[in-house]
Amino acid sequence: MTHYLVRFSYVSRSIKSMVSQPGVDHAGQASAMVASVGGKLLGYWYAFGEFDGVVLMEAPDSSTAASVAMAIGGTGEVSRLSRRCARRRRPRICRLARQKDEAAMSVQTSQPKAPVIDTGAITQITDGVWVIPDTDHTPMVPNVGIVTGDRAALVIDTGFGPDNARAVIEQARRLSDGRPLFVTHTHCHPEHGYGANAISADVTILYNEAQWDELEVKGPILLQMFRKQLPALAPFLDGVEFVRPQLAYTGSMTMDLGGGLTVEFREFGGGHSLGDQGILVRGGASVLFTGDLVEEGTFGVLGDSDSHTAAWLDRVKRFEQLDPDLVVPGHGHPGGPERLTDYRAYLELATRRVAELRAAGGLSEAGIVDRVSTEVLALQPAWQNQMWARKAVEDLTWPARA
Ligand SMILES: [Zn+2]
Repeated sequence: MTHYLVRFSYVSRSIKSMVSQPGVDHAGQASAMVASVGGKLLGYWYAFGEFDGVVLMEAPDSSTAASVAMAIGGTGEVSRLSRRCARRRRPRICRLARQKDEAAMSVQTSQPKAPVIDTGAITQITDGVWVIPDTDHTPMVPNVGIVTGDRAALVIDTGFGPDNARAVIEQARRLSDGRPLFVTHTHCHPEHGYGANAISADVTILYNEAQWDELEVKGPILLQMFRKQLPALAPFLDGVEFVRPQLAYTGSMTMDLGGGLTVEFREFGGGHSLGDQGILVRGGASVLFTGDLVEEGTFGVLGDSDSHTAAWLDRVKRFEQLDPDLVVPGHGHPGGPERLTDYRAYLELATRRVAELRAAGGLSEAGIVDRVSTEVLALQPAWQNQMWARKAVEDLTWPARA
């Protein structure tokens, strides 16, 4: 991953709004913006002199970095951009200023598959627990869970946009025969629950506090970014608003749905997002819904500077301690505990090998990233999102983020 330095100046109305709204988290907004295109914000500083501030970020390639820079400008928050090469402790520098190929800067126009939750594919995986599966790794389609007890039912994730949310709730109503419906989202990313406002009058929404705090800050930014970056999918996000959950918890919370089914909600933040939660259903077989802390057939996405490989490994180990019979990942096919083992294995390999090679000496940080990334990819050569395998390793070598 290459580093990019973006220098910017605020337009005057932005400065006015910074004075009148001093609590706005500009760094958080920028972080979410960069993360939404697969990068990571490494620093955000205000400055005196020619420019008002500087952003240092990692991005997968020059055209992605350019799109972020343009998106920042498109918000009206920035009046001028200058992209300079950043040279930190690792000698991998900005290519953006040298970018001569305008074609490489153009917006990707390929038509992605529509991110529609296929409610007809719903499958019962154990007593009272159903999954509407993401059967073919369709981008922006998560696994959706529906848990039906005697007294109430719970929906876990509602998909990308209001239409998907309405369709999922309709399916849940059919299964739960009019019992009260609770809805939770595994974390704050768009495909897991944007559009909850379309159903909030009919259900009780439940998040952990960190998740809501994160959604409140990053939600509008991610919404804007996804509309810009995925214009073909933007209509799915029409009408999205962010609504406060009616129920919130810190730490953990247990819910008795009746009929012998209990659900334990727990905070697991810091791996993939600040507000990650794990949801463990006990009744028949125990079922763990992991959100994007575990996916099937793909490397995990480090969302932004609030996510980190070390925390991620810790969270997966804690998932294993819950000893679930079945695991429903954020995306890809549900399975057994091997879903957790596979994730721990690659995160553990990255962590161990970086430490070993550093202790041995002789390789630069960049050399360590190259070596260990190759080893991680060799562990799961068929997995998608291979750039994120490298990202997981880079996270461990970045000196400011030990
Ligand atoms: Zn996610």
